[in-house]
Amino acid sequence: MSWEDKVRKVVPYIPGEQPSDDHKVIKLNTNEMPYPPSPKVSEALAGFDTESLRLYPAPDVGPLRDALAARYGVACDEVFVGVGSDDVLATAFLTFFYSDKPVIFPDITYSFYDVWCDVYRIPYETKKLDEDYHIVKADYLGENGGIVIANPNAPTGISEERDVRFIEDIVTANPESVVIVDEAYVDFGGVSALPLIKKYDNVLIVRTFSKSRAFAGMRIGFAMGNSRLIKYMNDVKYSVNSYTMNRPAIELGIAALSDEEYYEKAVAKVVKTRQWTKKELEDRGFSVTDSKTNFVFAAPPEDKISAKELFLQLKQRDIYVRWWDKDRLRERLRISVGTDVEMQAFVAAVDEIMA
Ligand SMILES: *Cc1c(COP(=O)(O)O)cnc(C)c1O
Repeated sequence: MSWEDKVRKVVPYIPGEQPSDDHKVIKLNTNEMPYPPSPKVSEALAGFDTESLRLYPAPDVGPLRDALAARYGVACDEVFVGVGSDDVLATAFLTFFYSDKPVIFPDITYSFYDVWCDVYRIPYETKKLDEDYHIVKADYLGENGGIVIANPNAPTGISEERDVRFIEDIVTANPESVVIVDEAYVDFGGVSALPLIKKYDNVLIVRTFSKSRAFAGMRIGFAMGNSRLIKYMNDVKYSVNSYTMNRPAIELGIAALSDEEYYEKAVAKVVKTRQWTKKELEDRGFSVTDSKTNFVFAAPPEDKISAKELFLQLKQRDIYVRWWDKDRLRERLRISVGTDVEMQAFVAAVDEIMA
């Protein structure tokens, strides 16, 4: 027996590569926003009172939680804030998934879900997406220990909205489970399930500042749901680490919420560039899903080049995209939407490689 037999062993999540700041690349591999946060954030940072760092922050994230509640038209006790939505999701998994029955989520989705299940020893089962990469609603209507759905899904980019009752039917079929809807990308064109939190007490909507608010480096995520769900999450959080949100994050988060006009424009630019990129790739024989996110999920024409080869050759040219060596993913690339200039450079590189 060694101490190592008592270690909580887990295979960690692998994020997209972050090159060092002095290595200039066109970085299209982690779905970061290509535009900076609002100027209101810079002003708030310049005016930040360093003296206040002496004091612990509000454990309930008070002023930022209240600003979020006002912004989304929900009550303060219906909002939970965490260190990025990864922290919010991890807390939700730990809080709500405590059953012998498996938690279910799609086989192709955000690849952190199975990692949290592993680290918290939560049983889980994945359900296959259909051949067009859509989530099959019928798979989520039976008995389970909980449900997680990313909508729009990643890395497919697809939003389940052809069926307007898609999420609602899953929520009503599962009164004995919590349904987590991960809406990390919803601002780029998806349809939010937020209105459901007023009707049902078992649905939790999770959002992030990392993508549409250009705040990946700041680490702010939040969840909205029935006040009882939020209370249970806070009980768990206060049992692990009460002060997750630091004072600068709280202040800058509020500043980011005070300039919707700026973010609407930035998001609209990304959406326009996304549609441009999709068309350019389709003109070159790629198959591209109808993404409602800030990335495209594209398969190069098989007879010309494999996704893996294209990924490697782009990397040699300092253009980073994402490729997974996994069934039904290995024939595709996930390409984050950058600025117009970056995407033009990306398309030019694709032409050069495929020439
Ligand atoms: C990016 C992402 C997150 C996590 O983002 P944070 O930076 O931790 O807020 C969660 N879910 C999905 C589907 C994502 O793509």
